[in-house]
Amino acid sequence: MIICDTHCDTLNMRVFHKDETPCVTMEHMVQGGVSLQTCALFAGSKGMSDHPYERAIAQYNELCRLSREEGWEKANSPLDAEEGKVKILLSVEGGEIFEGKVERVDEFYGYGVRMSGVTWNNENEMGHPAKHGSKEGIKPRGWELLRRMAEHKIAVDTSHLNEAGFWDIVDHHSQPPLASHSCAKALRNHFRNLTDDQIRAMVQRGGWIGVNFYPWFLGDTGKAVAEDIVTHIDYMCQLGADRHVGFGSDFDGIEVWPDDCSSPAGVPLVIDGLRRRGYSEEAIARIAGDNFLDYYRRLGW
Ligand SMILES: [Zn+2]
Repeated sequence: MIICDTHCDTLNMRVFHKDETPCVTMEHMVQGGVSLQTCALFAGSKGMSDHPYERAIAQYNELCRLSREEGWEKANSPLDAEEGKVKILLSVEGGEIFEGKVERVDEFYGYGVRMSGVTWNNENEMGHPAKHGSKEGIKPRGWELLRRMAEHKIAVDTSHLNEAGFWDIVDHHSQPPLASHSCAKALRNHFRNLTDDQIRAMVQRGGWIGVNFYPWFLGDTGKAVAEDIVTHIDYMCQLGADRHVGFGSDFDGIEVWPDDCSSPAGVPLVIDGLRRRGYSEEAIARIAGDNFLDYYRRLGW
């Protein structure tokens, strides 16, 4: 079984929070049987004043160091994923990393970025975050960057984006949207989660959703277990997303995690939970990784 995880912030933690202990390690990824771990270049929490481009380059250099010294292997294509091997897919979290420059999209494509979020929790040149409730859609410069991303078959990540921007992409963008680390709003009313209409639109457009493992997105108490991740996946499947859903842990970007699933080594517990809910091995393999790879096949990889 190929297991994919579509979001973690371990590069940011390793560069900018050296006092913290990353849980996304080679040992944990091997233990969890993860084949493709997406690692984000995070723009930083302060928007443009945080020098997002320089931050991203520092995180990219950290991945290069991990490749040299600890055997981390970067995937050139998502479809390079293979069972029994761990590969790293590079993404961007927060379009301010491009600083509004189309040629920066080319540059990061060259580094191996295959997925890019429009915003984090701050407004940028591309659009507006879900956090501040703006009713404004994708900005003209955002469309320019999105079109260049589509030329490179870089997936557009709508996690953190506001609803107006999300619907703009659903209605007007050439690519199906992806949400790399979001849960179901019907189960936990949080601005970072997706409404039923958004989930159905993802299904209709051939998109993909990675369910976040963050307890505060899974429920109201800040406490969770792997079973709660299964509940969100199962809910999305009931809305028709059984071929459009998978895992988007957010490890090393969250300060709490499910009690029994505190690192990539815990992913098999989510898979066991799906088995207990009666999912077939085929359905589980799709959720674990095949759905994500199929999404990239639809992008033309
Ligand atoms: Zn995030």
